[in-house]
Amino acid sequence: MISRSFRYLFSKGTIFDKILSKQIPSKAVFEDDDVYAFEDIQPQAPVHILIIPKFKDNLSGISQAEEKNVKILGRLLLTASRVAKEKNLSGYRLVINEGKDGCQSVDHLHVHLIGGRQMNWPPG
Ligand code: AMP
Repeated sequence: MISRSFRYLFSKGTIFDKILSKQIPSKAVFEDDDVYAFEDIQPQAPVHILIIPKFKDNLSGISQAEEKNVKILGRLLLTASRVAKEKNLSGYRLVINEGKDGCQSVDHLHVHLIGGRQMNWPPG
């Protein structure tokens, strides 16, 4: 059987595929069978964590989501809430950037967990 990391190595993918296959290092915060949470390399706040599905399943962004993805979408949000609790954040923001106008730069669905400072509204 082909291992997960072997598959990632030869799949055409984004930088997050390389992070998942450990070709590129990352600072893990949480991991289970479905999701991986790690520190953003360019933090926009004292706490800035990305939560991604381990199996992309064509989810390059939230606009690709279908009924069959409901479970992983829930897992991403639940993980964000769990990590926020572990980080003792009293308030925080969850962000999903979508497409060019949404400033998405990596085509692998991800949730930003941003906290540790006062957020502003409206966002920029
Ligand atoms: P987005 O602009 O919503 O697509 O978010 C992509 C995020 O990935 C940005 O906040 C980047 O700073 C982050 N990022 C890109 N490369 C890496 C990396 N190697 N390790 C951690 N975060 C990364």
